[in-house]
Amino acid sequence: MGLQVNAWLNKFPHNKPRAVAAVKALKSCFMIRLLAFMFCILCCCLTSLAQSVPVYLYFASHNETNDQSFHGLNYNTPTDYALMRAHVRRVCDTLLAHGAPYDMMLESNFILGCLKNENAAVSGNDLIEWVSQQPGFSVQPHNHFKPFGVGANPYNYADLVYLLDSCGVDTAQVMGGFIWRDFTNPVAVSEDWTDWQTPRPGFTFPQVRWRPTLLWGGGSPNHIDDFSAFGVWKPTAATQAGFGQHDSDQMLINFGNGCGDDFVLWDTTNAYQLAYRIMNFADSVQAYFSGDPDAFFNQKVMMNFRHFPAAGYAEKLGLVLRLIQPYIDNGKIRFSGIMETWESWKTLHPDPEQSFVLRCEDGVTVSSVKPLLTTTAVKEVETRTIVWPNPASESICFQPTVKRLSLLDVWGKLVMEVSEETTCVDITGLTPGVYFYRSELGNGKIVVQR
Ligand SMILES: [Zn+2]
Repeated sequence: MGLQVNAWLNKFPHNKPRAVAAVKALKSCFMIRLLAFMFCILCCCLTSLAQSVPVYLYFASHNETNDQSFHGLNYNTPTDYALMRAHVRRVCDTLLAHGAPYDMMLESNFILGCLKNENAAVSGNDLIEWVSQQPGFSVQPHNHFKPFGVGANPYNYADLVYLLDSCGVDTAQVMGGFIWRDFTNPVAVSEDWTDWQTPRPGFTFPQVRWRPTLLWGGGSPNHIDDFSAFGVWKPTAATQAGFGQHDSDQMLINFGNGCGDDFVLWDTTNAYQLAYRIMNFADSVQAYFSGDPDAFFNQKVMMNFRHFPAAGYAEKLGLVLRLIQPYIDNGKIRFSGIMETWESWKTLHPDPEQSFVLRCEDGVTVSSVKPLLTTTAVKEVETRTIVWPNPASESICFQPTVKRLSLLDVWGKLVMEVSEETTCVDITGLTPGVYFYRSELGNGKIVVQR
């Protein structure tokens, strides 16, 4: 304890004589010494909190009108839609099991599939509505409007918001993927974000008008020159020079999507390397920006519907989440979805003149090497089993998948045994109570409740 008090005194040398007298007076009372010790700990925590710059990390996905050419599933067909729905649920369950936030950005074809195959306009339990209600999750529109010709998509952003609303999603506020400047090459682009500064009508549903609150993911034709950046600002103009310039009088706010390809979970991504990049990035933000009151790092991990059906995709996502857990625990990474992070920004920067813009290429280094400081922590997490929901009523799921699972009641009697590799087991046959599970990865307790 003496060491702690001395450390505290060294931190505030100007208080030394008074503090030494105070400490002497306190020595007679153990309780007060204990309180003083706790106060020191609190001081240290507050000091480090004030200096740290967390990375606000969120998961986002797009689906595209041409998804079928990648995985062969036509969302309009009941069986194909049901298959895709199961893949999406697996990704969602994996994120939920780790408390990770998710912004699901949808194109018309999947929304129409949900409306048709789940009767989403009537159902209160369709996939899209369910996603929008999960903690930390939100559903937003992502659009490639093409009114006429081959592969026509007669739904613009306002139309998508209307379709999402029909599924039961509260008014979406994020324009997920937009054209950030006046491109003429390789093709002239007919509309950019400036067209959405005032509410616009739908193309198919002209009675609807919508304007986004946030712009997200500045894109370009064929992704030749995307605007990948951190921060929050109001772009001045749809030009090379004007987009990254903050003008508080503008209507629309750009919300940073962070670095590009390095933070995508492709079907071919090495989960370890992606997790290490995320952790190294957070370390690098701490190293170069801690103490900077303006610095604001909002980084997405991008996923695409077209990769969801790839073998082991959700398991890979689960591995990434387990690997980065030490950085959630130490506060270097904060799980926070787009709208929640936007609220944090407003609290930290109430003055509308404040902004932060940092283009990815001008920013921090991204390395795929295993972070040295956390080798033991990473090892620990690699072998940790996550069980959810717990308490459970219908099924219980394991991350990673378990082999040779046994469930025992409180008397040690075997009530269930599963020998093959399993993610989720049906427990509807079990009477409510406490059970113990054993698997080759570890043991634990589950509660069955109904
Ligand atoms: Zn797209």
